[in-house]
Amino acid sequence: MMGFMQTEEKSARFVRGIGPKRFEALTRLGIRSIKDLCYFFPRRYEDRAHFQSIGEIQASKDVTIKCQVITLGVRVLKKMNVFEMVVGDPTGIIPAIWFNQPYLKNQFKVGDPIILSGKADVYQGRLQINSPEYEQIQEGETETIHTGRITPIYSLSEGLAQRSLRVAMKEVADHYVSKEIKEYLPEEIRKKHGLMDLLPAIQTMHFPTDLDLLEAARKRIIFDEFFLFELNLLFNMRLVQLKERTTPFRYGRETLGEFKNILPFSLTNGQENAIQEILHDVTSEIPMNRLLQGDVGSGKTVIAAFLLCLVAKNDLQGAFLVPTEILAEQHYQTLERLLKPLGVHLTLLTGSIENEERKKTIQNIAMGKLQIVVGTHALLQEDVEFSRLGLVVIDEQHRFGVRQRAKLILRKPRPHLLVMTATPIPRTLGLTLYGDLDISTIDELPKGRKEIKTYWISQEKETEVLEHIRSQIVEKNDQAYILFPLIEESARFSKQPMAEEQYALSAAKKEYERLRLGIFKKIPIGLIHGKLSKRERDEVMQRFHRGEIKVLVATSVIEVGVDNPNVTFIVIENAERFGLSQLHQMRGRVGRGNKQATCFLFGNPTTEEGKTRLRALTKTQDGFAIAEEDLKLRGPGDLFGTKQSGIPLFQIADLIRDAEILITARKDAKQILDSDSELNQSEHYLLVQEMHYRRQRFQTQ
Ligand code: ADP
Ligand code: MG
Repeated sequence: MMGFMQTEEKSARFVRGIGPKRFEALTRLGIRSIKDLCYFFPRRYEDRAHFQSIGEIQASKDVTIKCQVITLGVRVLKKMNVFEMVVGDPTGIIPAIWFNQPYLKNQFKVGDPIILSGKADVYQGRLQINSPEYEQIQEGETETIHTGRITPIYSLSEGLAQRSLRVAMKEVADHYVSKEIKEYLPEEIRKKHGLMDLLPAIQTMHFPTDLDLLEAARKRIIFDEFFLFELNLLFNMRLVQLKERTTPFRYGRETLGEFKNILPFSLTNGQENAIQEILHDVTSEIPMNRLLQGDVGSGKTVIAAFLLCLVAKNDLQGAFLVPTEILAEQHYQTLERLLKPLGVHLTLLTGSIENEERKKTIQNIAMGKLQIVVGTHALLQEDVEFSRLGLVVIDEQHRFGVRQRAKLILRKPRPHLLVMTATPIPRTLGLTLYGDLDISTIDELPKGRKEIKTYWISQEKETEVLEHIRSQIVEKNDQAYILFPLIEESARFSKQPMAEEQYALSAAKKEYERLRLGIFKKIPIGLIHGKLSKRERDEVMQRFHRGEIKVLVATSVIEVGVDNPNVTFIVIENAERFGLSQLHQMRGRVGRGNKQATCFLFGNPTTEEGKTRLRALTKTQDGFAIAEEDLKLRGPGDLFGTKQSGIPLFQIADLIRDAEILITARKDAKQILDSDSELNQSEHYLLVQEMHYRRQRFQTQ
């Protein structure tokens, strides 16, 4: 690690107005030093900068008035202490009322010039202002703190009151920001983006003098949050990369040519670009760390296939890690079809492969006889050893934890890593979530894909819909999926996953029986779920692929198979229980061929949000737009199975609203590291200190 010094930060206790009690309350908010206080920005602001005259005051409106105390007194009303003050200006008078604060009486005297801000209400036929914010105007002092300005409102904890905190913060802004804060951002970057200097930006965040300045200050603070976050991520990533070396791949171009020749289609531009970015990485001796994201059906598997082919040509081994057995089996078949003709030796390793067969497979992997291994978690077991692992591809990244990823790649020499995700992650979130990965995006689908018509249907119309599907199967030889999906591990609301699973399974079985004996009586129908043995599953899948089964009832999106272009209908039951992105994934199982596909969502959401979700799905097919919408509806934590995803809580910055700033900030962070990868040039000293400071704050919060 770096050998820089951490300067001692001055305790917040030293600020006038912060005694031991308030200090303790502040520590509960994660604040210890004066510097922490500088960065403790208001939760929001109230604009109390515009004065009205008393004559203009209207009922139910917020007002700020500059006036004089005319009378004051305390009376008791229904056992409550009421402090009433009548104030006036040349246009009129108005009473102001405070409840249970009799001590206020001693703070004012008749004739005092004051400012009041609050809401005017009508009480017993006359206007009054209830519990207004107040401030005496001091002789010779121009700037007020609580009213008569854009006023900061801070988050509080027990033991902290807004007024006293605000007074302390004014002290901080006026006297401590200049001592505790140093501008650390290189001038070049500040100039390039027209950013406000840090000191005035922090002061303005607390006590803005006008809204435009506040906007400029916010922009600076947002930039800093993103910039330091990205710098930290990229810095750590490069520290690792600096040390690690792996075997660069050769024959990239020839293999790509050969591979394209055997493909039954030509690659889309999106696929081409992704392959070029990947080739750039794997031909270097710095291990690749790349995320490949693309909407469902955008053709990620082909890219994995090419890369696995390349690793084999380099006489190295490749591992393809997949979340479920069924998916592993299907990928294995796809890859075998593609790669066998090119002379690549593949094998499958899942939990269902046991005893002698497993022993032999593991031996062959260890001896390097097998070039490509497609497998599930079974691949991660201790006794699976590769003789020369050069590449790891992980499909459906979000289903594996960082630790599992590490298990495979922390081998020596470190293999190149490609993780693929079919959950399209909004670009900005991707940058932060997978900040330690470079990102390639396939932003188009193969040509000829038709829009999947999507309908959200109420349960009462079920028979009508199924009848329609039945007639299409009879007339056009179509096929259909009926999904009773399990709730994914990360998204379950139930604390009893088993109960959920049982529920989905029994619902699927019941429905299967009902349909088999009812509406689909004359049509071959099958049932598939995770509790079947591999042999049983294989049989159902093969019959479905051959078209011997027309309707497949299933409990999981993966179990319906990755690829059957003849399926044109998908029915999703209990759709209200799933997130937008998940539903989009499920829907993506159809519409893979050239036929028009249709998706029916059955669901009765009880919340507005639930309705918005289903409606959104009927309106768009764009996975990225859907993911953004999901993010808006549910927030990033929820979308990715809560906090474990390591999303930092940015104080001011917002991943969606401020997306552009994030992208610029990341670029700048990259540039700095390009010129000084270890950040040990003296001009970056303050930058490193600031990064260190923020890193600590993130950890303590
Ligand atoms: P995903 O990105 O969801 O994993 P797949 O790799 O399963 O998508 O691809 C979906 C389907 O599209 C497969 O049948 C695949 O063969 C086909 N496909 C992939 N690339 C192309 C292409 N460039 N042109 C036409 N079809 C393609
Ligand atoms: Mg896929």
